[in-house]
Amino acid sequence: MAIDSHMHINTSVLENMPKYIEDINKNHSIRSVINVGLNSTTSEESILISEKNSKFYSAVGIHPLYIDSQDIHCLYRLADNDKVVAIGEIGLDNSKANFKEQRKYLISQIIIANKLHLPVIIHSNNSNKLVIEIFEKYVKPEYGCVFHCFQPEIEALKYLVRNGYYISFAGRITYKNAKKSIEVAKMVPNDLFLVETDSPYISPEPHRDEVNNSSNIKYIISKLAEIKEMSYEDIDRITTENTRRLFKKIR
Ligand SMILES: [Zn+2]
Repeated sequence: MAIDSHMHINTSVLENMPKYIEDINKNHSIRSVINVGLNSTTSEESILISEKNSKFYSAVGIHPLYIDSQDIHCLYRLADNDKVVAIGEIGLDNSKANFKEQRKYLISQIIIANKLHLPVIIHSNNSNKLVIEIFEKYVKPEYGCVFHCFQPEIEALKYLVRNGYYISFAGRITYKNAKKSIEVAKMVPNDLFLVETDSPYISPEPHRDEVNNSSNIKYIISKLAEIKEMSYEDIDRITTENTRRLFKKIR
């Protein structure tokens, strides 16, 4: 049974959230999902959903594109909950020029994760090198780390593997132009990769024109099975084991 290690169910993009929650609750091939917060409000909402739905877990954090006047100290209170398994998503995004602010938020949130003994979920948009630089110069995640929706770069991959950090694959790996992602998937050790949908965003083939949802995790698992020349069942089992090793609070 699969774990969708990164999704967003309480987002304005999804019109009928209760239906999407119900679909996940009923789907026997999905073991659990991690519903990731983008700011304090969506993190808080995610916790409310997790408390009512046993398959749901939460990550709480301030995303680099949502950092305007966010108070990160609320994370101490939010993370003090059985269903909160990580701090995230946090990171750097070079589509916005407020890099100084983004760095401050990233560093402070890694420090909070370390204090709380929690892993971090990293969002890195064209910023792998800069995130790694922050790890090396300022603070390193001490309780695990995953680069979600990993943008394929061999140097970054090598660094992550060396540090025992995880790499997560999403819908992009199913696209025709995913040559580099496939190359990375071949190289990543079997005990260091996860799968995610990042739904409702980045829908995989063959559903690229539709709103993404967690049931599409099967297309990402199939693609990885093909790339790694392993069975669907093996990838399903391995990625679930890896996800539970990283996010220790998942029961
Ligand atoms: Zn996300």
